[in-house]
Amino acid sequence: MLVSAKEMMQKAREGHYAVGQFNINNLEWTKSILQVAQEMNSPVILGVSEGAGKYMTGFKTVAAMVKTMDETLGITVPVALHLDHGTYDGAKACIEAGFTSIMFDGSALPIDENVAKTTELRQICNEKGISLEAEVGAIGGEEDGVVGMGECADPDECRRVADLGVDMLAAGIGNIHGVYPENWPGLSFETLEKIVEKVPDMPLVLHGGTGIPSEQVKKAIPMGVSKVNVNTECQLAFAKATREYIENGKDKEGKGFDPRKLLAPGCEGIKEVVREKIEMFGSKDRA
Ligand SMILES: [Zn+2]
Repeated sequence: MLVSAKEMMQKAREGHYAVGQFNINNLEWTKSILQVAQEMNSPVILGVSEGAGKYMTGFKTVAAMVKTMDETLGITVPVALHLDHGTYDGAKACIEAGFTSIMFDGSALPIDENVAKTTELRQICNEKGISLEAEVGAIGGEEDGVVGMGECADPDECRRVADLGVDMLAAGIGNIHGVYPENWPGLSFETLEKIVEKVPDMPLVLHGGTGIPSEQVKKAIPMGVSKVNVNTECQLAFAKATREYIENGKDKEGKGFDPRKLLAPGCEGIKEVVREKIEMFGSKDRA
């Protein structure tokens, strides 16, 4: 059932668990994630980056595929179709296309401009019943081959953006996108505490969920993290299983080259990651 993420975020915040956002790239990704969410009776958020949207020939295609697949698979758990790290124009295009949730990433903008654009999008999203995620402070990652150590958001800026009425807030607590460097110091629980003091009821979003030690994720969730984004980990699992299939010569056995067979182990890899995360985040049976 396609819904906004508003209610699932509030329930998760109150219930001290988190909902997983799993990014999709194609039909196989979407199907695998929806099936596991249904099987585990868990709410789920399908994340779509602007790049992935372009790859799938546009946000309209994505929305049509997800909406129809949700119906034909008979999915009854709450599913939000969410733009991940949207630009202002991307956000508007997704609202138009029928997404049920939007992240506006104004983190690269000066805070006043971030606030102005977030305010405008809040109004549009309110009219359409779409949930909105904002970001305060940048979330690091690999840029030009240099991996940052992860930034920490300013708690006062968090308060300012939270007051705009967003449904969830991404705030850096040392987390980064992609694969974490060996010498990464870990999540800053001190920052998380200070942010929660300023925005006590706000569902917080932990980006870059791949590679954060599970004890740290499990510690952050009851403190106020209500959504954890997982992207790279599904990609790695899909690539590993696909490589094994081909390296073992399975594509040369019978009709092993049939894409429905060739892509099956990768799909199982994605499903395993999603199962493990839903279990870890505590959203099982919370639909
Ligand atoms: Zn992110």
